[in-house]
Amino acid sequence: MSECVFCKIVAGEIPSRKVFENERILAFDDINPQAPTHILLIPKKHIESLNDAASDPALLGEIVSRSAAIAGERGVPEFRLVTNTGRQAGQIVFHLHFHLLGGRRMGWPPG
Ligand code: 5GP
Ligand code: ZN
Repeated sequence: MSECVFCKIVAGEIPSRKVFENERILAFDDINPQAPTHILLIPKKHIESLNDAASDPALLGEIVSRSAAIAGERGVPEFRLVTNTGRQAGQIVFHLHFHLLGGRRMGWPPG
């Protein structure tokens, strides 16, 4: 069994509040939301980070375009899409994920 928390969510071994699912990707609410809308979009297959995703640009494109569709459906057409890549950038879960954040004003640059 995989020790990866997001692989366990994909397998249904850890419950999640699903927002969207197809054969390739899954979107679910973040357990520790940093904004009124905080959804994670992940590939179902285990990819550690964006540094390991170059071989599948179609999958990345699908996730990015799906994020905008979900934001629109959720009524947050103004949103931020973030992928932390590596520990220094804030990555804690090493299964590629995109944070979709919306519903509040956000600062720039990030901390
Ligand atoms: P990272 O810091 O790796 O970019 O983000 C990991 C994200 O995964 C965090 O926002 C954290 O709240 C979320 N997370 C970690 N474990 C779980 C979990 O078991 N369920 C859900 N829904 N989110 C999780
Ligand atoms: Zn995984």
